[in-house]
Amino acid sequence: MNLVRPTYSIVAPVYNEQGNIPRLYAEIKRVMDTTGEPWELVLVNDGSRDDSLREMREAAAQDPRVKIVNFARNFGHQIAVTAGIDYADGRAVVLIDADLQDPPEVILEMAERWKAGYEVVYAVRAERKGETWFKQMTAKLFYRVIYRITDVSIPLDTGDFRLMDEKVVKVLRTMREHNRFIRGMTSWVGFKQTGVNYVREARTIGETKYPLRKMIRFAWDAVTGFSYFPLQIMIYVSFVLGVLAVLAIPIFALLRLVYGPDFFGGQATTIVLLLMLGSFQLFFLFVLGQYVARTYDEARGRPLYVVASTENLDRPEGAA
Ligand code: UDP
Ligand code: MG
Repeated sequence: MNLVRPTYSIVAPVYNEQGNIPRLYAEIKRVMDTTGEPWELVLVNDGSRDDSLREMREAAAQDPRVKIVNFARNFGHQIAVTAGIDYADGRAVVLIDADLQDPPEVILEMAERWKAGYEVVYAVRAERKGETWFKQMTAKLFYRVIYRITDVSIPLDTGDFRLMDEKVVKVLRTMREHNRFIRGMTSWVGFKQTGVNYVREARTIGETKYPLRKMIRFAWDAVTGFSYFPLQIMIYVSFVLGVLAVLAIPIFALLRLVYGPDFFGGQATTIVLLLMLGSFQLFFLFVLGQYVARTYDEARGRPLYVVASTENLDRPEGAA
């Protein structure tokens, strides 16, 4: 470990970013050295198949502040970030993408807010450069839907680019759920949070590792990790079908009074029954969902609460 504990740990997940590693190291060094405080760069190699690891080792060989966590295979972006958080030693941990789409200068601004007493400083993408219209639109929609249906308030248009105080980091380390949505998890933790605006740069080297398939999976992790909305939807459908079933009875009766008993030729009762059965089934699926949701809550094993501070008690501050 470190002889001097770093003030800042910069954590970057790396998946096939060979061209970006030397630039990332140079940029982080240039920016972080201006703080005059000790820092480290924790690079997590998420099973890269290119020369990323060699580039990382080269940086680590010339600068002991560069740490490497090397995965046995590709575990995915969010897991790579998690490992970085686990290994980071700093008093503040900064998550940043390895492709320099998040400008390192913003870290200085985050650090300022942190020194002013904020425990989470997230970066809000005021503008995204060089991304397709489709990605920008789906991202915008995604953040707004998540905002509406989740139980914790996850700030709009924020990625993982953020600074977190060690108190928050300590709690995050105890959250071992498998399907992870880290920006939601940091919001869930609480403490004093604030945002800084920045312009998200275009990727200059390599290409995005988030194809549509991964984006959908990611969105689904976010929704299921922080909301039971998909399970709860059934109660509304059940309700609508139930109301339709009940309304159908007098409507069919009236229609038959007007057009004679052969109207709908015996299908009326079938329709009413279908609607009712559908409604009942969905209702009980909803009930089932409620139990599944509770099992899920327990299975996730999150801490029940997060203590910000105590007084006259011997427990360390921020311990979960
Ligand atoms: N990444 C990773 N594992 C993966 C996919 C991506 O560690 O399976 C890293 C990638 O190297 C980058 C960051 O996660 O540092 C963000 O990925 P990317 O830039 O491709 O996403 P985008 O910016 O296009 O949303
Ligand atoms: Mg990127």
